[in-house]
Amino acid sequence: MPRKQILLIGTGGTIASEMTDSGLAPGLQTDQLLSFVPAISDICQADCLQLLSMDSTNIAPSHWLQMARCIQEHYDCYDGFVLTHGTDTMAYTAAALSYLIQGSPKPIVLTGAQKPISFDSTDSKTNLSDAFRCASEDFPGVSIVFNSKVILGTRAKKTRSKSFQAFSSINYPYLGVLRDGVPLRYIRQSCAAAPVFFHTLNTRVALLKLVPGIGREFADFLLAQSDALVIESFGVGGLPEFNGFYDCISGAMARGKVVVLTTQVENEGSDVGVYHVGHTLKNDLGVLEAYDMTTEAVIAKLMWILGQTQQRESVERLFYTPVANDILWPIK
Ligand code: ASP
Repeated sequence: MPRKQILLIGTGGTIASEMTDSGLAPGLQTDQLLSFVPAISDICQADCLQLLSMDSTNIAPSHWLQMARCIQEHYDCYDGFVLTHGTDTMAYTAAALSYLIQGSPKPIVLTGAQKPISFDSTDSKTNLSDAFRCASEDFPGVSIVFNSKVILGTRAKKTRSKSFQAFSSINYPYLGVLRDGVPLRYIRQSCAAAPVFFHTLNTRVALLKLVPGIGREFADFLLAQSDALVIESFGVGGLPEFNGFYDCISGAMARGKVVVLTTQVENEGSDVGVYHVGHTLKNDLGVLEAYDMTTEAVIAKLMWILGQTQQRESVERLFYTPVANDILWPIK
């Protein structure tokens, strides 16, 4: 069987970082990364493309569009793609690419590391070769391969800032694991015969994390700057009843803003109708809720949806329509 052709797209991050006078900064190019793991040439035929060289703290939605465009331009020439990326915002990028490139039969694998590839103790080499292995196998769609786990792009969250096990799969099983570098697939994502690419995002999406006693002026401020506000509330979801939040939200919705309630709790998602503090929001005001989606996926999905339409019924329908298994909650 001919060897798989895989394109390595470099964007920066710790994996490609070197020590400078002011701390770690990306410096290595993709061909230099590959030279640290010569065994990758036994897995596949790899080509290199340096798209960006950034700490992922600086990654913005315009870069997500650049990544999607780059994959589209090379899509027909390769069997799979590996993107090296900083871990800090990798979950956002993985979610965004899941909306910008839908139904891909070819693997689009993001990876990175907690320690630079030139360090004696590093997770870079394992993660990079694992990513190439998965990109060479039948793992359709966008995923993160990290610390021997394969995580669906819409379900990843960075949950550890230092240890090698940086990412968790939220409210969804791993797609697979790697045992001694051998990928074992648990779930095969469904895909289309060919992907659909999108090229528009509306970045006017804001996020408000509630703290006890928060006043409505914070929500008022963010709603004035945005087309959609995601509110990370407490537990299964609700808003404080005594700070004018309800008036603020109903006023904003009457002005055409989209409001989504989600939760600060990492696992199991929202269920806004359960308590009085949430019930009215859902039933009378028509606030959307995130259910089992990650905040990263909610933000990226809203940017994608609002890039296509501002029409309320369409926004609601698209929000609750699963894309890459981002939402599984039974919708009534
Ligand atoms: N600050 C780095 C980044 O996200 C962290 C990492 O890659 O692990 O680019």
